[in-house]
Amino acid sequence: MKSIKTVLLVEDNAGDARLLREMFNEYDTHDSELTHVTTMSEAEAHLATHAVDIILLDLGLPDVHGLDAIRRAHAAAPLVPLVVLTGFDDETLAAKALQEGAQDYLIKGQIEPRALLRALRYANERKRLERLKDEFIATVSHELRTPLTSIRGALGLLTSGMLGDVNEKATHLLRIALTNSDRLVRLINDILDLERIQSGREPLAFRAVQLADIVKQAIEDMQPVADAAGVKLLHDTTRVEITGDPDRLLQVITNLLSNAVKFSPPNSPVSVMLRPGVTGVILSVIDHGRGIPADKLEAIFGRFQQVDASDSRQKGGTGLGLAICRTIVLQHSGRIWAERNPVRGSTFRIFLPYLPVPVPVQGGTPEAETDHGTVILADANSESRSRIAAQLARHGYSVVQTSTVEQTLAAARQGAHAILVDTSLDGMNGWAILPLLRRLDTAARTPVVLLSVEDGNGAEALPGGAQGRVPKPLEEDALLTELARVLCGSGGTARILIVEDDPDLAQMISGVFARGDIAVQIAHSLKETIDACSEFAPHLLVLDIGLPDGDGFNVVDWLREHESLAHLPLVVYSGRDLSPAERRHLTLGPTYFMAKTRVQPQQLEALVLTMLRSLRQTHEAVAPSPVPNS
Ligand code: ADP
Repeated sequence: MKSIKTVLLVEDNAGDARLLREMFNEYDTHDSELTHVTTMSEAEAHLATHAVDIILLDLGLPDVHGLDAIRRAHAAAPLVPLVVLTGFDDETLAAKALQEGAQDYLIKGQIEPRALLRALRYANERKRLERLKDEFIATVSHELRTPLTSIRGALGLLTSGMLGDVNEKATHLLRIALTNSDRLVRLINDILDLERIQSGREPLAFRAVQLADIVKQAIEDMQPVADAAGVKLLHDTTRVEITGDPDRLLQVITNLLSNAVKFSPPNSPVSVMLRPGVTGVILSVIDHGRGIPADKLEAIFGRFQQVDASDSRQKGGTGLGLAICRTIVLQHSGRIWAERNPVRGSTFRIFLPYLPVPVPVQGGTPEAETDHGTVILADANSESRSRIAAQLARHGYSVVQTSTVEQTLAAARQGAHAILVDTSLDGMNGWAILPLLRRLDTAARTPVVLLSVEDGNGAEALPGGAQGRVPKPLEEDALLTELARVLCGSGGTARILIVEDDPDLAQMISGVFARGDIAVQIAHSLKETIDACSEFAPHLLVLDIGLPDGDGFNVVDWLREHESLAHLPLVVYSGRDLSPAERRHLTLGPTYFMAKTRVQPQQLEALVLTMLRSLRQTHEAVAPSPVPNS
């Protein structure tokens, strides 16, 4: 068969398999190689290690049936054409099979050998066209990212008040524009995410994981949203270890929680339950909200499928969340489905089988060192304190938690890089702690950031002794940026070189760093970057990958050749997703990676300032010496 060299036959009936093999031997003039397996687990194992040109799939296998068989085969090898060859002569099932990614649905005994071989060739061609269409969608989405990032960033800066006052009417319009550009960003991110996960370009990183820990983190991440909606999150602490990709599983659970909260009325609970069984564990997310009509329980897992057409607009969704969840669960050889609760609301269940732990592969992604320093967190409310502490710890800070003035002063005596004080600490006005801290030798110059309930828009002066303020309810970005700002402190002018070919985006990023002790220069091309490294001698580079006369890899290769620049801190701020190998290639000194639309400019600022600060600590603001132009 032309262009079909290897066929994987997934068939548990030995007689059917023998017939098929004989048929291939007799009629296939191109001598394709036929591999035969009898279960889906064997098929998945084979597909993980072998290249296959086409899959011939029976739907009644010992370990999986019907549509789930197609879904699992498709998830295991998303780029390989799939032809169903089954005894079930069922038109409805056939239509669904095609919707789930099969290229054809053939009935055993009803198709003669030559027609079957021809069907395989056509299936191959159909799959090729489908791939082209997916690539087109991905390219369009990528191309939308850069201009959209500029628009989102500019609107964010304008509404933040950093650039001065804007009148009320304009503020209102800006907020509408901001909300809608956020929607667009979410949509594009989800399209790209789904495409990336389904294409199999980024294989899952399987390891042994404690499911209860992932559930706990998902709940922590969703807590602010649930608080705002007045929904109570309850979780199960049953310990159960499985093999999986923790980041992807977190994404699934967070998505289900986010939906449950979105569609729940205030004061109702959303709970997560873990039930370990013999072959795997069932995780359930139970809500008491609007519920899902019986005829939509399956459809909502499709792309852009909503119960109510107005859901995406009113509830801020994209309609892709559950499609992403299903793909991830299938890649774990699991199952996900929705049920109606007997009284009210819905339950989403995931079955995850216990899989063997894979042998670790050598040479993982080098993670940037994260030790941003010690922060004292003084907050009398234990719930909000542990939430903030968890956020800070995730971003590389060591956190010392205190709940009284006494404890805070004691911790400050031990020394810290910054102190965060809730203004209602210990019943006493948190500000009153400031003079006490200033009297301590060890903390006289430690920056203090106030966490205050009033709107800290900067209009009121900061009380003496405080360097910053973050308004409550706390937004993670605002907190990290403020912390990075005060920690960066002053220590001579820091020079940042922004390498970005899109002039609008470059200007927007440099706008974020508008402050006295930072000098920013922009380079739009590889040549300008090399010139700037010689003349401007940056302390840090913000690097885009695509450049008109080369790319970010060329920049890094050039830097690597110059001793004084070979360890330059980098923030790779790129529009496309980078593979682990590409990330390794781009790592010089401390290196961080950010996807353009995934991070807001303020997050970029926080990261860069944090990096500059650790740089100052290690080198005491010694700039790399300029290198001769080469
Ligand atoms: P979205 O981004 O729109 O939330 P999803 O794929 O996550 O996309 O969900 C698809 C649709 O399924 C939602 O728009 C909603 O109509 C319905 N849905 C999902 N979860 C729930 C739930 N817990 N309760 C009621 N409806 C839900």
